[in-house]
Amino acid sequence: MTDLSRRSLLAATAAGGSLLTVAGAQGQPAAPAAQSPIRGKDGASILGPRNPAREAEDPFTLRPPRTDHGTMPNLKWSFADSHMRLEEGGWARQTTIRELPVSKAMAGVNMRLGAGVVREMHWHKEAEWAYMLKGRARITAVDAQGRTFADDVGEGDLWYFPSGIPHAIQGLSADGVDGCEFLLVFDDGGFSEDSTFLLTDWLAHTPKEILAKNFGLPESAFAGVPEKELYIFPGPTPGPLDADRMGGAGPVPEPFSHRMLAQAPLSLPGGTVRITDSSVFKASKTIAAALVELQPGAIRELHWHPNGDEWQFYIAGQGRMTVFGSESKARTFDYQAGDVGYVPFAMGHYIENTGTTPLSFLEMFRSPTYADISLRQWLALTPHALVAAHTHLSAADLNRLPGVKAPVLPG
Ligand code: MN
Ligand code: MN
Repeated sequence: MTDLSRRSLLAATAAGGSLLTVAGAQGQPAAPAAQSPIRGKDGASILGPRNPAREAEDPFTLRPPRTDHGTMPNLKWSFADSHMRLEEGGWARQTTIRELPVSKAMAGVNMRLGAGVVREMHWHKEAEWAYMLKGRARITAVDAQGRTFADDVGEGDLWYFPSGIPHAIQGLSADGVDGCEFLLVFDDGGFSEDSTFLLTDWLAHTPKEILAKNFGLPESAFAGVPEKELYIFPGPTPGPLDADRMGGAGPVPEPFSHRMLAQAPLSLPGGTVRITDSSVFKASKTIAAALVELQPGAIRELHWHPNGDEWQFYIAGQGRMTVFGSESKARTFDYQAGDVGYVPFAMGHYIENTGTTPLSFLEMFRSPTYADISLRQWLALTPHALVAAHTHLSAADLNRLPGVKAPVLPG
């Protein structure tokens, strides 16, 4: 991104609802009346109703670069547009195939639990991968062999519960933070947070005499079972973690938690990358992830993934992604903290930090392993005469391309 376009984006941010300038596309100077969809001789002002605050969030939707073309599916959703399910002490909102129809492979949930507040004991068909955004939580689970798991997780930690494994989450009070907030990612876009199998929901829909037989207790013992699901509710004050390690048939062989942020990053001019897949987080058999931080102006290089769709969550900063979808199709989207991005299988893309602060985002894949193909590396490692015949790049320039992949490149 040029300094000019970075400056004008800054101005756009500062101007908020009364946006006066919009970033110039592809090195073109920012137009003075850039709030209009005008690019050189193309376009015209808007005469009808407008939503200036919304337009300011998506400058390259209002005025796309010349290189954008064709009809791409929508690849952006903001959690700000997701319904908030409010419960005592917490909330949940989701981005699934219902909000973002292209997202068939994965779905996401953003959840907040106050200190002591419980996401009720439950299970679901989909595997659950999670990234702790703020605060701390206690997570517990039991597997099919009666092996148990309990851990306390904090910012930058992950958990992964395989398909069908029962689990619960409880917010903790630590370091002055009231509970926690986290991102959940499920390995099916059709997932619904409102359709999980809840302990209390099952008990409420089982005859009391069956409960008595099943647990070997008198029917009267179940008089207090709630008549409807609890879902999110204030729970008992959690004790020390050791007391919640229940033993059973021993601990699960592959722990369901992982300290992602504590991994040593791949550090490059322009930013850092942490990759967490089943090679380092063994339990995480169906979700691979990367945590990327880009400095202002830096890009996540032009690349694609040979192993599936990409589900993105923007944690901080401002970014821009153009996705190339074959048949001359390409579209550019702007993202900010709290937004979800999506890249369908094999489509080429880059992500640029268009802000003045670090851009931090997560990439998730429904795959046991992380993989990407670097455009630059592909060209560097293909016979140069052949590449020159396609690109008309000089032999000298082609010789300058490094054969080593650099997922992040400086601005
Ligand atoms: Mn769950
Ligand atoms: Mn990618």
